[in-house]
Amino acid sequence: MVNLDHSASRMDRIPFSGIRKIFEECDQLEQSGTDVVHLEIGRPDFDTPSEIKQAGSQALSDGHVHYTSNYGITPLRSALSDKLSAENGINYDPENEIVVTTGATEAVFVTMLALVEEGDEVLIPDPCWTYASSIRMAGGHPVTYELNPKTGFKPDLDSLTEAVSERTKLLVLNSPHNPTGGVVDRDTLNAIEDFVVDNDLLLLSDEIYEKIRYDGSEHLSPAAKNTLFDRTITVNGFSKAYSMTGWRLGYLAAPAELIDPIVRVRQYTTTCAPSISQHAGVRALQSGLHEPMVNAFARRRERIMERIENIPGMSCPTPSGAFYAFPTTPEGYPDEEEFVWSLLREEGVAFVPGSVFGESGHGRFRIAYSNSVERIDEAFDRLEDWL
Ligand code: PLP
Repeated sequence: MVNLDHSASRMDRIPFSGIRKIFEECDQLEQSGTDVVHLEIGRPDFDTPSEIKQAGSQALSDGHVHYTSNYGITPLRSALSDKLSAENGINYDPENEIVVTTGATEAVFVTMLALVEEGDEVLIPDPCWTYASSIRMAGGHPVTYELNPKTGFKPDLDSLTEAVSERTKLLVLNSPHNPTGGVVDRDTLNAIEDFVVDNDLLLLSDEIYEKIRYDGSEHLSPAAKNTLFDRTITVNGFSKAYSMTGWRLGYLAAPAELIDPIVRVRQYTTTCAPSISQHAGVRALQSGLHEPMVNAFARRRERIMERIENIPGMSCPTPSGAFYAFPTTPEGYPDEEEFVWSLLREEGVAFVPGSVFGESGHGRFRIAYSNSVERIDEAFDRLEDWL
């Protein structure tokens, strides 16, 4: 008999993505003729702005079709350095402190592989995006800290203090946050600064939803603080702000000593981000092209909050950023898996169960407002009838 289980033992710690299972079910339902309302997808539903697409086409016509430097093309690194200085208040040298990556996903992955030692602990928020799998692939252990729904899902300092140990190497911060829409404010960031310095930690700051904020909430980059600059890896990307998920373009910025091992990993992973996307990225940074999309998200957020309020049992703090809400499940449906799957199969409305994002997601689910106000209304009409 041939042994068909060839997977490496480290893969035992890597689960199949919970969101992917929902996508597959949506596919099957659609193939059998169901009209599925998609509120599960973590990406903007808009086309990439035409100016950016034109810059991509131009790069193709101009023959920019080859490998680039492992750090990324010089014009993009210079533009990123200018952006980080003007918008985030951080001075990074475009020569050796900025690396263009194949999406923020790769930025997170190569950072973990380069900096996390076998057995190191890494603090991640609960709930959160998929940091745990890249930490585990690097041989590290994810340890969670809580986000408090009562404060709009800001990091809970007591929980951070409980979670830290002598083995903790790095803290992951994500603001604006997926899946809750929470945004870290000045006081919280000051407390995190003390915590990181006192415990001698590195900090990975995932700022991919930076541009998507509401009600005047501020975006604060930890690396802008002198005490944190040396310890921080700032991660960001083009996927969310410019609706460029398929272009696979992200970046990270950090002091040269941290960049050096990260670039060595990159040399053996994707080598460089797609050359055409990098040229399009320069154009994206020159404009306020994200603004119409953010305005559309703001209108959808309002509608979602109005509809949530009308359903007994459902509640959540009003999201301050990103394009997600993370409410409790309706009265009578304490099990979020059962709620989400039944609603999908019986009514064709797609959400994501909260537990996909961590233990604290039990009894909650994620709504992505990556769909029009009309479709949001359609989803909530069906939900209300079903309940
Ligand atoms: N970080 C967060 C918090 C995300 O939600 C995502 C995507 O959903 C990413 C990073 C990765 O984005 P990309 O690899 O498309 O740049």
